[in-house]
Amino acid sequence: MPILVQKFGGTSVRDAICIKRVAKIATDAQKNGYQVVVVVSAMGDTTDNLIDLAREVTHKPDPREYDLLLSTGEQISIPLVAMAIHDLGFKAISQTGLQVGILTEDKHAKARITEIKTEKIKNYLKEGNIVVVAGFQGISSATGEITTLGRGGSDTTAVALAVALGAERCDIYTDVDAVFTTDPDIVRDASRLKTISYEEMLELASLGAQVLHPRSVEIAKNYNMPMRVRSSFKPQDEGTLVQGVGKMELNNPVSGVALDESQARIAIVGVPDKPGIAAKVFESLAKKNISVDMIVQSTSKDGTNEIAFTVDKDTVEDATKVTKEIAKDISASGVTTDVNIVKVSIVGAGMIGRPGIAAAMFKALADTSINIQMISTSEIKVSCVIDTKDGEKAVKAIHKVFELDKVSKEKQKV
Ligand code: ADP
Ligand code: ASP
Ligand code: MG
Repeated sequence: MPILVQKFGGTSVRDAICIKRVAKIATDAQKNGYQVVVVVSAMGDTTDNLIDLAREVTHKPDPREYDLLLSTGEQISIPLVAMAIHDLGFKAISQTGLQVGILTEDKHAKARITEIKTEKIKNYLKEGNIVVVAGFQGISSATGEITTLGRGGSDTTAVALAVALGAERCDIYTDVDAVFTTDPDIVRDASRLKTISYEEMLELASLGAQVLHPRSVEIAKNYNMPMRVRSSFKPQDEGTLVQGVGKMELNNPVSGVALDESQARIAIVGVPDKPGIAAKVFESLAKKNISVDMIVQSTSKDGTNEIAFTVDKDTVEDATKVTKEIAKDISASGVTTDVNIVKVSIVGAGMIGRPGIAAAMFKALADTSINIQMISTSEIKVSCVIDTKDGEKAVKAIHKVFELDKVSKEKQKV
């Protein structure tokens, strides 16, 4: 029998009624001939509430204790889903990451899955169970400590399980009907995408489109695992199929617009213009495990440089501290930090070989009087750092300029 992995996000299990809906979707899949593995997130805002609680207790939570705390959210939802399945007359068993054997790196808050033991799950499936697995959590193979995979990480648990079990597909059930051309919360007339390539989805997710965890798309792409993003409130609706680019027709240069509100900008000013400085700055940040995203270096009239870069808001305090130490070392004149920035991006495999796409984006921002602070491009994306207050205005303007509200259904062939 083919295996199907179904993942349900926080909104999809926010209360008893929703949990019963999840049980119905899972049992329907079993009735349709699948062996079913269900991955669930914590109920509603549970994870946010746990984070708030930790912050009330301490400014800097201990990473081990923090992961142990956060992993409890999913531990509540899994038995509830299993019980709701029992109530429908079906067999189910819940499993934490530890019980399954979801092994990760020895890193807290953003661990990567390194291995998943499948024997136990396969046995439970063979006995006719629907196996309900806690998303977002694993154990360090080195220490046996509980780890978490980063916010939104249940998507990654689901895809990794689908790959490890050789599933036919991984369905991600969420609170929107599909992947849209941008966040439908920002642009009401955003268009639904019938299909999207792994490459584009990976860029969109990495650039702030919360609908999928970037690592989940990376794993799906590497192992060619088809994923469907669909609504747990409209289970008949097929949603969006995320698949290999070779199978797609690319009609529009731009497939989507994303807004990332999670970054901050740090700049070192008055940097002496000599070789080796950038290496020194970024080596020191890397040593402290601080990931840097966009980097821009510019030279001013007096012959000194400004090196600006963006980091996760979570790490901005540490990054600023390290940067100030380096600035002193290299005799730069100062460091500025700005948390009031966002990154707006366009993504589209169809922009390859089509000039003028970036220019059209910049013009849309200029026509809306939005100042661009930093720019970065790759083959299939263009990103601009702008002021936080302009974020949603920018998304709306860019979405309009590329006519993404008019992406026609007929064009989106599967
Ligand atoms: P879940 O709790 O099910 O994991 P998330 O909140 O993580 O759900 O992701 C779903 C949300 O992603 C939607 O409610 C929507 O606001 C947001 N989102 C951002 N960009 C997009 C997009 N391009 N398409 C669909 N949803 C998007
Ligand atoms: N519960 C975790 C979070 O809120 C993981 C997830 O929902 O995917 O980030
Ligand atoms: Mg999510």
